[in-house]
Amino acid sequence: VARTGRRLSALGPDDRERVVRSLAARPGLLPLLDAVKVPLLLAAGTERMLHHAPAPPVSAPADPPLDCTPAGDWPTRSTADAVVVGSGAGGAMAARTLAAAGMSVVVLEEGAHHSTASFGRRAPLDRFLDLYRDGGATFAVGSPPVLLPVGRAVGGTTVVNSGTCYRTPDQVAERWLNRYGFAAAEGLGTHLDEVERTLRVAPQPLDVLGGNGLLALAGAEALGWPAAPLRRNAPGCRGSCQCVVGCPTGAKQSVQLSVLPDACAAGARIVTHARVLRVLTDRDGPAGPRAAGVLARRPDGSELEILSPLVVVAAGTLHTPALLRRSGLGGHPRLGRNLSVHPAISVAGRFGHPVTGWKGVLQSVGVERMRGDGVLIEATAAPPGMSSFVLPGVGRELRRELEGTERLATLGAMVADRPS
Ligand SMILES: Cc1cc2nc3c(=O)[nH]c(=O)nc-3n(C[C@H](O)[C@H](O)[C@H](O)COP(=O)(O)OP(=O)(O)OC[C@H]3O[C@@H](n4cnc5c(N)ncnc54)[C@H](O)[C@@H]3O)c2cc1C
Repeated sequence: VARTGRRLSALGPDDRERVVRSLAARPGLLPLLDAVKVPLLLAAGTERMLHHAPAPPVSAPADPPLDCTPAGDWPTRSTADAVVVGSGAGGAMAARTLAAAGMSVVVLEEGAHHSTASFGRRAPLDRFLDLYRDGGATFAVGSPPVLLPVGRAVGGTTVVNSGTCYRTPDQVAERWLNRYGFAAAEGLGTHLDEVERTLRVAPQPLDVLGGNGLLALAGAEALGWPAAPLRRNAPGCRGSCQCVVGCPTGAKQSVQLSVLPDACAAGARIVTHARVLRVLTDRDGPAGPRAAGVLARRPDGSELEILSPLVVVAAGTLHTPALLRRSGLGGHPRLGRNLSVHPAISVAGRFGHPVTGWKGVLQSVGVERMRGDGVLIEATAAPPGMSSFVLPGVGRELRRELEGTERLATLGAMVADRPS
């Protein structure tokens, strides 16, 4: 708009091309453009993938039952023994633990509940826009900008993650214990065993890896580098390569399929479409100020209040500190600091034969050669659009590159970060 006075979508193809090229030519702007084009191309790419090679219709199994109530149907004032904010990896485990201990638990989730059957019915682009906060375009401003997509749904980011389940390495647990005094790091293995049982974690069998994973294994073998199919929480995975827009077969054990059903069976209730505005505090308590409940907003703008002596804030890494600060609990000097993000890069190789990476497991093989240096290589078969991670260019040039994605094999590398 700033360049032409008109929206990009309102321009003809040639004008559009001119604008994006001139933007890309400006020093410093290209990384920003790359960050913006990643979610857009991912969404467009998953559409193309289905268009070119429509997946056979899948008969999704019925999901285990959850007790979900939209915020609009929840009373304006209620009470609970414990309130959990956020229904992702952390919130689900907290809810299950508290409910199993006999407490009345209410989980508040800003997003909606999506069934596995709905993933099979709906186009990837629709799912993408619904399942991610800000349509997946959340990024950290910096040089370079880092795309930081997060989920917003019952199940949180686990609904859209790749299902790779690495155990916390021993040296990391030791660092938590020795440097930060995190005593629970001792004996962490027992808890991880339990988590793996709950999430049904197992090495991915070879037969569904697909061309991208098999190439990664062959390449690593040729180099003499240690590599193996990844351990994932997706028993019976059929290689739909759609983990990042909601598994359409229900194989991936996101927490709305694996942890929250147990929580609900033990009496926990989930309020959907409820954005928690702040944690209520009782400032005059005998032992000083303490949490007394939460105030949340419904989609129509009205508010609801749940009074509870115990509040667990599990709104994710980015939103938990913001919520605490909004609640006037921002006094701790470390609140909102020390974020660590394991940045990921991606590399593509063009082959003489079709790889068709999107037929198989999205994240399939781990190459551990550089793990000691904190670099983990993972064969990540991106749906076509995701190859913008590695393909240069904008406009028609990028479109031409995208036409050849069938012959691309892609590896991702995740670089271990430490809190600053
Ligand atoms: C594309 C992608 C792939 C990934 N792949 C992997 C992988 O293969 N392996 C792996 O281990 N990790 C992976 N991750 C990361 C992993 O999924 C997250 O680390 C994990 O889900 C974080 O759990 P959490 O409970 O902290 O937050 P989340 O799971 O993000 O849950 C937080 C929830 O809180 C809700 N919420 C936030 N604010 C409010 C509010 N004010 N009121 C009410 N609700 C609120 C959100 O809507 C969300 O549902 C991936 C992430 C992404 C984006």
